[in-house]
Amino acid sequence: MLLNLGSVPLVVLIYHRVIELPSDPQMLAVPPTRFREQLQALQAAFDILRFEQCWADVQRPTVVITFDDGYADNFQFALPILEELDIPATFFIATGYIGGEREFWWDELERILLCSSGGQALNRVGAVDLDRTYDCGQVREREALYQFLHPQLKTLSVKEREGAMAELARLVIGIPEPRSSHRVLATQELVQLAASPMATVGAHTVCHQPLSSLSIEDQREEIECSRAQLQEWTGRPVQVFSYPFGAKSDYTPETVAICRRAGFDRVAANHSAVVRSWTDPYRVPRFLVRDWSADELMSRLRRFAGL
Ligand SMILES: [Zn+2]
Repeated sequence: MLLNLGSVPLVVLIYHRVIELPSDPQMLAVPPTRFREQLQALQAAFDILRFEQCWADVQRPTVVITFDDGYADNFQFALPILEELDIPATFFIATGYIGGEREFWWDELERILLCSSGGQALNRVGAVDLDRTYDCGQVREREALYQFLHPQLKTLSVKEREGAMAELARLVIGIPEPRSSHRVLATQELVQLAASPMATVGAHTVCHQPLSSLSIEDQREEIECSRAQLQEWTGRPVQVFSYPFGAKSDYTPETVAICRRAGFDRVAANHSAVVRSWTDPYRVPRFLVRDWSADELMSRLRRFAGL
C-alpha cells in the first residue's frame, strides 16, 4: 500500500529542465528564478518527501519532486537551488545520451527545423511519409513539419529515426551547431549529482524509446542496462525507474512485469493523477510542472489535489 486509506493527498511533480531558454516549443523548461519561487511556495504549503521513500503515513498534503531525462541544467541550475533550500529530488536518467555530444533527438529535431534558415520542399523523410509537401524554404512550413514529425519520430526505431534525422539535416540549410543550452549531463556531472544528499538517481532506459514500441526482450535490455550503467557510474543502488514519455500508451503490462521482476521499489509514469492508497507502485502518476509563477502553480496544484 502506498498511502493509508482516507489519507491526505500526495502529488508527484515532474520537471525536465531548469534553465532560461530563448524558445521552448515543448514547454519543459522552468527558469531558475521561477524554480526557486516554486520550491519556496511548495515548501511553505506541503511536506516534501522523496520518490523512493515510504509514503504510508503522510500526515499533511505532500509533494514529491522528480526530474526526467538527464539535462546538464539539472546539475548546473536545479541542484544548487534544491541544496540551498534543503529539498530532495529524484532524477531519472536516460543513460544512452550521458557524456555524449548529441542533443536528445527531440531537441535535435527542434534545432534542425526551428533554428535553421531554409531548405527544400519535402514529402518524405527517411521512413516517414509526410501527410503533404512541406516547403522548408518557409519558416511556417518548417514549424508545421516540426509539429507533424515530432509524434511520428517518437515511435520509430532508433535506426529509422536516425536515418530520418540525417536525411532531414541534409535537406534543410543553416542548421546551427548543437547548443550548450541543450546539453545532456556529462558523466562526471552525473556522478556529482548522484553524490548530493539532496539527489537520488533513477533509471529511465538507455535510448528513451517508448517501451510499448519494443519487443519484450528489448524492453528488458533497455530497463536493465540503464540501471546497471547508472549503478556502475554512481556506485549506488538504483531502485526506482520512470517510463520514457510515460503516457498509458507508452508502456504495457509486460513493461510493468519486467520492472516488478527487476526489483524496482517504485516506478513513475506520466499521467496526471493524485497518488491514492490504491495506486499501483509500478504506475505512479505525476503532475507536469510548467513555467508558472509560484501562485499559479499553487492554485493549479490545489485544484488538482482537491485542497
Ligand atoms: Zn523522458
